[in-house]
Amino acid sequence: LPWFRNVPLAPADPILGVTEAFKKDTNPNKINLGVGAYRDDQGKPFVLRAVREAEQQIIDAKMDKEYSTITGVPEFAPLAAKLAFGDNSEVIRDGRVFTTQSISGTGALRIGGQFVEKFIPSKTLFYPTPTWANHLPVFRNSGLSIQPYRYYNQETLGFDVEGALEDISKMPEGSVILLHACAHNPTGVDPTKEQWKKLSQVLKERKILPFFDMAYQGFASGDVDDDAFALRHFIEQGHNVLVAQSFAKNMGLYGERVGAFSIVCDSAEEAIRVGSQMRIIIRPMISMPPLHGARIASRILSNPELKKSWLEDVKLMADRIKSMRTALKDGLKAEGSTLNWDHITNQIGMFCFTGINEKQVQKLIKEHSVYLTNDGRISISGINTGNVAYLAKALHDVTK
Ligand code: PMP
Repeated sequence: LPWFRNVPLAPADPILGVTEAFKKDTNPNKINLGVGAYRDDQGKPFVLRAVREAEQQIIDAKMDKEYSTITGVPEFAPLAAKLAFGDNSEVIRDGRVFTTQSISGTGALRIGGQFVEKFIPSKTLFYPTPTWANHLPVFRNSGLSIQPYRYYNQETLGFDVEGALEDISKMPEGSVILLHACAHNPTGVDPTKEQWKKLSQVLKERKILPFFDMAYQGFASGDVDDDAFALRHFIEQGHNVLVAQSFAKNMGLYGERVGAFSIVCDSAEEAIRVGSQMRIIIRPMISMPPLHGARIASRILSNPELKKSWLEDVKLMADRIKSMRTALKDGLKAEGSTLNWDHITNQIGMFCFTGINEKQVQKLIKEHSVYLTNDGRISISGINTGNVAYLAKALHDVTK
């Protein structure tokens, strides 16, 4: 029988599609600014020293490959929670947090979405516009109704605090709001500390449940504690929160799929009930998350020497990104661009929302072999000392 005759061809993934086009280009000067993975100054993937060392230790220990648990490698979740919530977290001390290992950040968002669908009556999640493209299908596939709130201001190229607050004031009580904990993707624009405090206060008054996506802890500022400011502030202010953590960027464990999902509850007893339901959600989806990456992360987080080396490399990556922002801005000026490019250095994290339009994007791709997504987002990690001058020239050419 022609079972699959009616299966239509789906469009390529908008982000991964950029890399496909890049690969086909034969221009030796081509640059891939599409995908959000860190590259060193030679344009090569970077495996952190601590990761190499932890991996060696795991091999030397000749560990077995037995099944882990539904919530993953047992030592991993408490270590991940401590990284997110802080060494002296009161909610951890009180046993009020449930944490499970997850299939990186995406898997954490997905099981979190499923939990919301099952236990939060409104089943409505508000997401910032714009947001990481995959957020929408992840939460839609969890069975949620997804609605936008204003986040990015096209005019100021900054956070639209008035728009966000106005939209929050209209959200129905009992809804869930998605917040990027730091290094907002794709805009690179985060609220200031004062704005976070205001958001926390208003969301509390409005009885909205915050769901933090923390995919870049350490990557934004170079300091894992600074980047957790918003999350920890919300918790101090008494919010119950959901948190998706990814170790893809900050440990460079992209393909190992290491992440965690946490829920901050009102009591230890509640955390046990919540945890029992999370297990029911995880089991039929994946049975349990995999071993290897979580073993690596656990070693790094629990061994003071490895942790020190890891934090040094986190800072190294963040600093290289920052220096490339400055180099690109300086390069544009050197080319003679009279436009204001301050947003390149004001924005943080892996991405920069350049503010160029779709036509200019297409020109960059076709005439200069500089690849990026249609929204004008560039991944700063694709820039290095060897290609920044070429990029500045190309960017100036399409914007002059
Ligand atoms: N959230 C955001 C905002 C992201 O940018 C990403 C990665 N691009 C993720 C979550 C999830 O990434 P992963 O599943 O690889 O951890």
